[in-house]
Amino acid sequence: MIKKNTIQKEIHLSGVGIHSGKMVDLLLRPSSSGGIIFRRTDLDNLEFNLDIKKIETKSSTYLASKGCKIQTLEHLLAVLYVFGIDSLIIEINGDEIPIMDGSASPFVQAIVEAGIKPLSGKKRSIKVVKPFVFREKDETFSFYPASDFKITYSIEYDHPVIQRQKLSLSVNLKSFVTEIAPARTFGFLKDVPALRAQGLALGGSLDNAVVLDEKGVISGSLRYPDEFVRHKILDLIGDLSLMGSPLIGHFKAHKAGHSLHLKAVHFLLNNPAYIGV
Ligand SMILES: [Zn+2]
Repeated sequence: MIKKNTIQKEIHLSGVGIHSGKMVDLLLRPSSSGGIIFRRTDLDNLEFNLDIKKIETKSSTYLASKGCKIQTLEHLLAVLYVFGIDSLIIEINGDEIPIMDGSASPFVQAIVEAGIKPLSGKKRSIKVVKPFVFREKDETFSFYPASDFKITYSIEYDHPVIQRQKLSLSVNLKSFVTEIAPARTFGFLKDVPALRAQGLALGGSLDNAVVLDEKGVISGSLRYPDEFVRHKILDLIGDLSLMGSPLIGHFKAHKAGHSLHLKAVHFLLNNPAYIGV
């Protein structure tokens, strides 16, 4: 059994939402409730729990409940997962977690500064005991039994800077902080008008995303030559964290996205024979 955790002290962060384009203040408060609770301070402190049944995806992973939503949860959730933080109040005065610099590193730094506080409650790991493969158009997602939590991700883009990238690693706090957290969100300049027409990427900029034109990167230098696939792993950790437990298994994704990630999460939670329950 593994201990539940919260943070030692409050964390304040603020910044723009990459989709909404609005400035938001985020306050993470220690809690002993054993769950993640969101509080919309701009809506009379309307509260809702992080609940997989209320999660939807569209360019980001978001919570939709009581007629409102909180978008772009995935980077913060990935950080909470690797630090083992499962008990927290997240106060926010808008509908989107700030994108910060497009990566998870600002959240990592804030949690390291605040410190972790173990709670008396315990949690069990979820262990994959039977493999399964999902295929959807050219996307694939599969999982297999393993001795620890591993991810293998591969992507293919017809773009000279990305092309084929593949990375496999064991996910733990150390590997996450050094190999995954700094990898930023990326997007293509040519997609921006269509995204904005749907009310998405309104806050995206050269300061909070790796932006590519037809030939190369126009937002400065990359943090890793394969920053793109590393960011996909970050998004996947955030999505898999919605299982609500530490994970043991090897998760493999090829050209996948939030929607297929979430299908796998629902499948595992609805088919306990695959997780040995
Ligand atoms: Zn992302």
